[in-house]
Amino acid sequence: MTIYEKTKTDVVPIVPLPDFGTGRPCLIVMRGTTTGAIHWITDGAVLGREEGVSILIPVEEVSRRQCRFEIRDNDEVWIEDIASSNDTLVDGQRISRSTRLEEGAMIQLGFGAVVKFIYHDELEAAFQSRMYDAALRDPLTGLFNRRYLDEYLEAEFAFASRHKAALTVCMIDLDHFKQVNDIHGHEAGDLVLAEVGKRISETVRTEDTCCRYGGEEFVILSLGISLDGGLVLAERLRGAVQDHEFRFDGGTVPVTVSVGVAGFPYPSIDSPQSLLSSADQALYLAKQRGRNRCKVFITQ
Ligand code: GH3
Ligand code: MG
Ligand code: MG
Repeated sequence: MTIYEKTKTDVVPIVPLPDFGTGRPCLIVMRGTTTGAIHWITDGAVLGREEGVSILIPVEEVSRRQCRFEIRDNDEVWIEDIASSNDTLVDGQRISRSTRLEEGAMIQLGFGAVVKFIYHDELEAAFQSRMYDAALRDPLTGLFNRRYLDEYLEAEFAFASRHKAALTVCMIDLDHFKQVNDIHGHEAGDLVLAEVGKRISETVRTEDTCCRYGGEEFVILSLGISLDGGLVLAERLRGAVQDHEFRFDGGTVPVTVSVGVAGFPYPSIDSPQSLLSSADQALYLAKQRGRNRCKVFITQ
């Protein structure tokens, strides 16, 4: 197998890759926030939780740079721990020096994540990737689903609590959406939901996580922004939906959303559930006050 580099005139091979026969070595995340994700292993690949590593496992207990992989004699894969704070275990054994991986080996990264080492071919990998998407994404909007958000929020809340980092949730609900279905039909309703999902993902920052949380409810999770920043984002989202022309069957469908915002750290918020329910309470207030508006969760 060969890596190709695109040049102005042609595509030329630059680095020959080892021939792995039936499959290429990879890791499948078995436990962690990205369960089901596949990472190909290349010679010298570093696994960790820091942006910029070749295999990113965004789990708090994983070290910034945890372990390194080496490919020897064309198809052997060796692993070496490069972290001091979190142990790397292969099939239950702590590794202290470079260790050869057998197909099917389970690699435990601290207490946070487990990855499985296998040789995969492209077809299997494509299938695996489809299964991963099916489990964690909503098919109508392509956004993450509630299951993903719940797992991801759990991990991020733990991290934010420990490091006193800011975490903000915007809970978005379409206004009078039942009427859209009643007047224009369910198909129009589905189109509106998909379109709102698109507006939302175009409006947030790339590092924000967008999910379809329920039927006509969306949740945005933003790391590192305070309640004030959350309100600014909420207003932007509300405006983006209000200003968009939703076209269906030659006509337009008026659509607005209400948004509830809650932020951590906050005295009464001590769990992922309380963060979400606080955003929900703020959303309820936005609905009560007339809809098409944003409200922040604050206690007196
Ligand atoms: P409010 O402003 O108080 O939120 O009013 P609402 O009409 O939006 O709220 P309600 O909870 O009464 O109705 C939500 C509607 O969303 C009812 C349900 O049929 C519709 N809905 C939920 N999921 C879907 C979906 O996947 N597709 C379509 N077309 N409609 C959906
Ligand atoms: Mg609702
Ligand atoms: Mg609604």
